[in-house]
Amino acid sequence: MTIFEKMLNKEIPANILFEDENVLAIHDIDPQAPEHILLIPKETAAGLNDIENWSDEQAGRYLKTVVKTAKLLGVDKSGYRLVINSGRHGGQTVPYLHMHILAGRRMNWPPG
Ligand code: 5GP
Repeated sequence: MTIFEKMLNKEIPANILFEDENVLAIHDIDPQAPEHILLIPKETAAGLNDIENWSDEQAGRYLKTVVKTAKLLGVDKSGYRLVINSGRHGGQTVPYLHMHILAGRRMNWPPG
């Protein structure tokens, strides 16, 4: 089981920003910006490809939690970067789906 599933199951503690019926939102242990939040879905998926098995409603609700998080952080107006690392070439290190929200500074482009 991945570390994020253990956090969802409350088997290990997490630095939680909020939790609702769709996601567990936690602070990244190694933040890459002043705000770095991980949105871990309660609906199981090892990576983004697996959301093919979700309903459109589940997928849409997951994406909408980004906006909820941005508002909670107070960065919805200033802006933020949304990242999903998918698979080996995408740089995914934990094989359980999560979105990164990075905020609090101006982001660079192109990404590394
Ligand atoms: P990925 O590289 O899979 O897209 O992102 C994994 C993220 O999980 C990384 O940003 C990493 O810092 C974070 N991470 C790994 N282990 C832990 C942990 O135990 N707690 C928290 N809060 N974040 C973690």
